[in-house]
Amino acid sequence: MVYDVIIVGVGGMGSATAFQLARRKQRVLGLERFDIPHAMGSSHGISRIIRLPYYEHSSYVPLLQRAFVLWREIEALSGQELLVTTGSIDGGREDGELFNGALASARLHNLPHEVLTGAEVNARHPGYNVPPALRAVFQPQGGLLASERAIVAHVNAAMSLGAEIHARERVLGWEAHPSGEGVVVTTDRGRYEAGRLVLTAGAWIGELAPIVERLAVAERQVLAWLQPKRPEWFTTERFPVFNIDVEEGRYYGFPVYEVPGFKFGRYHHRAETSAPDLVRREVDEADEALLRQFAARYFPQGNGPTMALRTCMFTNTPDEHFIIDHHPAHRQVVVASPCSGHGYKFCSVIGEMLADLATGDGSTKHDIGFLKLKRPALSQEAQA
Ligand SMILES: Cc1cc2nc3c(=O)[nH]c(=O)nc-3n(C[C@H](O)[C@H](O)[C@H](O)COP(=O)(O)OP(=O)(O)OC[C@H]3O[C@@H](n4cnc5c(N)ncnc54)[C@H](O)[C@@H]3O)c2cc1C
Repeated sequence: MVYDVIIVGVGGMGSATAFQLARRKQRVLGLERFDIPHAMGSSHGISRIIRLPYYEHSSYVPLLQRAFVLWREIEALSGQELLVTTGSIDGGREDGELFNGALASARLHNLPHEVLTGAEVNARHPGYNVPPALRAVFQPQGGLLASERAIVAHVNAAMSLGAEIHARERVLGWEAHPSGEGVVVTTDRGRYEAGRLVLTAGAWIGELAPIVERLAVAERQVLAWLQPKRPEWFTTERFPVFNIDVEEGRYYGFPVYEVPGFKFGRYHHRAETSAPDLVRREVDEADEALLRQFAARYFPQGNGPTMALRTCMFTNTPDEHFIIDHHPAHRQVVVASPCSGHGYKFCSVIGEMLADLATGDGSTKHDIGFLKLKRPALSQEAQA
């Protein structure tokens, strides 16, 4: 075999995996259909939130603790800031899932945190105008990741350790090697052989692993950056990243960082799912109006002129937990769909995990049982 491991998709997850494999002295080939980085997948738009209290499932917290260590490592290697600490707010109704789940996971894992009312949040952070009765977990280690720069940092680090990375090369398909060992990968430029294959194709994962086609569905998202009327209230020092559940739905947001605007979005925006290549890329008035309505009510001082609007894709599983597993019919192939709108913060640790699954006996020390392909929530969907 010419390569030990081929990685399909060099976005957030694939770039981190290339680095982790290269540092284990694996001969790596990373194949990316667009540019590195690019704005067609799930990792663009400058920044992503990283937060530790995890209402989605408390098993994510130990993974995040390791992710923080690895983010700091790649940051040091790259010599540039990739993780900016702002603190994080997870807020919602007092009896709601978001607040209670975040609080339970903070307590379970002894994370430093404070429980605040909305009124207290607004007083501390004047950019906020959330309902006074909202309940929030403030966690001081949360912040934002420079997502596009981190892809470049991982790719540079991987290449400096000998990884080969090809952009503008689309994988058309793969098959098990006729010898029974390894894989053969066909692209629009050539044909490659490797011992193992890692599929980190983001929204396109179903095209390369039909077994997850119905389980990993692309969904259009829209991000807005609005010029704050009081920029001094929207700095990384004064404005923590947020994840809040309000009457209108669940929203997330950031201080001003690089693009001169307060950045935010609505989870599942307008619930538009489609094949990834058919996702509507332009932003219309209804998209902007929906987002502005939220800013006007909860972040009025952030509701100035529009600075940028971008579309992006979630890849959702039915239970919104990631899929990370060996292919059931081909153990030399690893399938990874870590999105459902919350995967980026895990890239660094998922890179390590996928490197574990694609080397040696394929085991990992990380507890990822809850992310297996064969789990009840996914079996029901696959059979439906
Ligand atoms: C608007 C938005 C906001 C988000 N906010 C957050 C957040 O705040 N915090 C958080 O943790 N997560 C967040 N997420 C989720 C997070 O961004 C994703 O989980 C993460 O980016 C997924 O990374 P990926 O590597 O799987 O996908 P990508 O980065 O899209 O990489 C997949 C790559 O595979 C390539 N590819 C696909 N098919 C082929 C092929 N046939 N041949 C070669 N290459 C191929 C694609 O071109 C792409 O580069 C958000 C997502 C969106 C869209």
